[in-house]
Amino acid sequence: MEYAIGIMIAAALAFLLACTVWVGLAVIRNIGTASVVRRFETCIHHSNLRVWVRSDLKGKHRDHCLCFDCKKFRPGLKGNCHTAQMLYEVCVEHDLVTPVWECRKFEQDPYAYERNWNQ
Ligand code: SF4
Repeated sequence: MEYAIGIMIAAALAFLLACTVWVGLAVIRNIGTASVVRRFETCIHHSNLRVWVRSDLKGKHRDHCLCFDCKKFRPGLKGNCHTAQMLYEVCVEHDLVTPVWECRKFEQDPYAYERNWNQ
């Protein structure tokens, strides 16, 4: 009898442990994919038009875009990267903000942090 109770207690503890691990993994997975729950808002674009933006990415273009750390990026100047210029023109035409995350022509500019593209 005591042996059976011991087995039942062990089984219950094993079940509780499995549940704890399962819930723990689910929590970790949700933390890792928190951005799956998307939130959106509107803001005023450079064109003075109201546009939609994902709330967690609002104002983060320069933090994400490779171009701002690239030697070939010369916005508004002759000799600007052809790809970046075309992308800029599409953005102007359609009121978009499009960071470049991947580019085979990227060349890191070690002095990029000294630039201020607003001037
Ligand atoms: S080469 Fe690529 S990363 Fe560099 S400015 Fe052009 S598009 Fe941007």
